[in-house]
Amino acid sequence: MTDHAAIVAKCIDAALAIIVEKERELGDLDAVAGDGDHGAGMVRGFRAAAAVERSGTASQVLVNAGMAFSNAAGGASGALVGTWIMRVGMSLQGEILDASTVHAALDKAAIAVAQLGNTRVGDKTMLDTLSPFAEAYGNAAATGASISAAWAQALPTARLGMEITRNMIATRGRASVLGERSRGTQDPGATSMYYVLAAVGDVLAADCPSESAAPSGG
Ligand code: ADP
Ligand code: MG
Repeated sequence: MTDHAAIVAKCIDAALAIIVEKERELGDLDAVAGDGDHGAGMVRGFRAAAAVERSGTASQVLVNAGMAFSNAAGGASGALVGTWIMRVGMSLQGEILDASTVHAALDKAAIAVAQLGNTRVGDKTMLDTLSPFAEAYGNAAATGASISAAWAQALPTARLGMEITRNMIATRGRASVLGERSRGTQDPGATSMYYVLAAVGDVLAADCPSESAAPSGG
């Protein structure tokens, strides 16, 4: 049987590793129209998320990681990313863990971020990565793709969502104060979330390659 909690723990470690690698880049993006702390905040958040107790279910590990992230990261993104992680975890409480339950979790988590941030797609935030990713994941899951295959199929949509924030003007968060100055720079939160999703995709491809949403056998 797949140990989903162990895979989740590996995903958090992979997210921490990529965020540490990209800390400077994320800070530089945030410095253009914000305060330059996005990389540092994300590193604090994922360090705390990686330090939580890892026994228990995948759901429990994610909920605890999300809470730890929120408490440690600070800033607007601390609460938002922490909520996203927590909501994914809360939605994965059921017995069945397959691509369609993962899709439901990604969907609920993106909606929670939108509600907490009072944000929509197009506002130049992390939601521009998270929301299209959830939708693309759902489309892949509906064709019977496995958890990891759906993730891989949805990643290019998340990348596109991140990339098109470059031409947007920020209307939420600190960067909205400088509005026009944010145009021409990719949104830091959209960028960090893409890196996280890509890192998780690498873990899933290695650790649960053949799991299928469709019932096996028959
Ligand atoms: P702060 O703005 O408090 O310094 P960070 O620099 O860590 O926090 O994060 C900035 C990122 O947070 C932005 O690039 C954007 O993606 C995201 N963000 C800010 N405000 C909101 C919001 N209201 N809704 C969704 N995302 C937001
Ligand atoms: Mg900032």
